[in-house]
Amino acid sequence: MQSSARFCVMGEKMSYEAVIGLEIHAELATRSKMFCACPVVDPQEAAPNTAVCPVCAGMPGTLPVVNAAAVEYGVRVALALGCEVNPRSLFARKNYFYPDLPKGYQISQYEQPLARNGRLVIHTAAGEKTIRIRRVHLEEDTGKLTHLGPDRSLVDLNRAGVPLLEIVTEPDFRAAEEVRLYAQALRAILRYLGVNSGDLQKGALRIEPNISLRPMGSQTFGTKVEIKNLNSFRALERAVAYEIERQAQRLEAGEAVQQVTMGWDEDRQVTVLQRVKEGEDDYRYFPEPDLPPLVLEAAWIEGLRASLPELPEGRARRFVEQYGLTAYTAGVLVEEKAVADYFEEAACHLSASVAPRALANWISVDLFGLMNQAGVSAEQIPVPAAELAELVSLVEAGRINPGSGREVLAEMFRNGRGAAEIVRQRGLEQVSDADFIARLVSETLAEHPAEAASFRAGKVTVLNWLFGQVMRKSQGRANPQIVRQELEKQLGNQ
Ligand code: ADP
Ligand code: MG
Ligand code: ZN
Repeated sequence: MQSSARFCVMGEKMSYEAVIGLEIHAELATRSKMFCACPVVDPQEAAPNTAVCPVCAGMPGTLPVVNAAAVEYGVRVALALGCEVNPRSLFARKNYFYPDLPKGYQISQYEQPLARNGRLVIHTAAGEKTIRIRRVHLEEDTGKLTHLGPDRSLVDLNRAGVPLLEIVTEPDFRAAEEVRLYAQALRAILRYLGVNSGDLQKGALRIEPNISLRPMGSQTFGTKVEIKNLNSFRALERAVAYEIERQAQRLEAGEAVQQVTMGWDEDRQVTVLQRVKEGEDDYRYFPEPDLPPLVLEAAWIEGLRASLPELPEGRARRFVEQYGLTAYTAGVLVEEKAVADYFEEAACHLSASVAPRALANWISVDLFGLMNQAGVSAEQIPVPAAELAELVSLVEAGRINPGSGREVLAEMFRNGRGAAEIVRQRGLEQVSDADFIARLVSETLAEHPAEAASFRAGKVTVLNWLFGQVMRKSQGRANPQIVRQELEKQLGNQ
C-alpha cells in the first residue's frame, strides 16, 4: 500500500491506511446565473460588481428562478458519471453568515439531491479502480472577498449566484495518486461535456479532499481533515500526501487527529489550520420555500442520455481498437479533447502504410515535449495536424531519419512551416544509396583500424561506436539500417 507508512507504537508494529473522499465544486459554464438573469463573467476580466442584480445581491422580496441550462448541464454530468438521476429533487437553504453571502444562506440541495450512486473508473499503476460517487447536486456560488489588510476587505458579487455542481465521492481513495487521477479524469469529462472550463487556477473547478487514517485492517473510519484552496493537480497530490504523513505522525505520537479544515500553503508546501469544521447542524438546512421541487421527466432525461458525446473512457477504448494504440498512449491522448481531435485529424492525413501508433508516439513524446517547454495548450498547437502527419510519413518511409525528424518538428513548431519544405531546404533527405553508404563505411574502418580490430577480437560493443562514426560522416543523413548492415558485412569480410 503506497500511502500507508509503518510506525512503531509502544513497541508494536502498527501501520495505517489512508481513507480519502472528495468534494468537487464545478462552476457550470452557463450564460446566466443559477437563479437570476445576470451573466456569468470571467472573474479576472469583468470589473467588480458589474454582473449583479437584486436577486443575487440578496435583496429582500426578490424571488429566485431556476436556470434550465444549469439543470441540463448537471444532469448531463450525472449521466456521464453513471448516476441515478432523481425524478424529483429539492432545493434547500444552507444557513450561515459570511460577508460574501449577502442572503445569509446559500441555495443548495441537501436531502434530495439531483443525482446519486455514480462511479468513475481510474487507471492506477496497480490497475483499474472504481471510485463510487455518492451524490451530485446543484447549488449557487458565493461572492468573492479580497482582503486588503487585517481590518479591510472588498467584496465582489459577480460570482454570487453562479451555478455550481457539487460532486461528492464515497471515501474510496487510499492514496494521493488515486485522488489526483480521479480529479484529472473528472475534469476531462466535464470538458468533454462542455460544461466547465476545467480551470483550477481561476477556481472554476475546486477540489476538496477529506482525509483520515485508520489502523490497517480496521473497518471504522478515523477523524477526517478537509483541505481547501488547492489550485493545481500537483498541489492536490502533494497536500494529500503531506496530510497523510502529518496525521500518521500525530497518531504515532499518541495524539488524536482533530476534525478541522485546513488550507494548503504553496510556498511552504504544508497544510495550515483554517478553521474548526462546522457540523451539519450548524447550517440548519431546510427546504427552500421560494422554489418548487425540481421535477424531471423521464423522457427528457433519456433524451439527454442518448445525446451524450463520446467520453474520454470510450474514446480511449476506440483508439486502442481502431488505431492499434496501447491503452497507456490512448489514455494520454484522450485526456484533452483538443489533443484527441488533433490526433484523429492527423491520422486522416497519414499515408496508408504508416501505423497510427507511430503518429501517437510523435504526439505524446515529441510534440508534448515542445508544448511543455513553450507553455502551449492543446488548443494552440502551432503545427497543423496534416503537416505532422506529413512529417511522420517522411520518417516512417525512411525519407528522413528520426533524429532529423525531431529537428524538423522543432522548426515546424517554431515557425509553422511545412515538413517537406524544411526537409528540402535543410538537405535532410535520408540517403539509402548502397554504394554511397558502402564507401562511407570503408572510409570509416580505414580511419579507425584499432577499433575495427578490437571488434574482430570479440569486443562487440565497438560496433555501436563505429556506427556512430559512420552516421556522423554522413551528417546524420545515412539510412541507419543500411549503415548497420553494411558495417556488419564489411567487418565480417575482412
Ligand atoms: P461533511 O458533512 O463533513 O462534509 P460528508 O459525510 O458529507 O462530511 O462527507 C464529505 C466527504 O468526505 C465525502 O467525500 C466522504 O466520502 C468523505 N468522508 C467522510 N468520512 C470520511 C472519513 N472518515 N475519512 C475520509 N473521508 C471521509
Ligand atoms: Mg459535505
Ligand atoms: Zn443577478
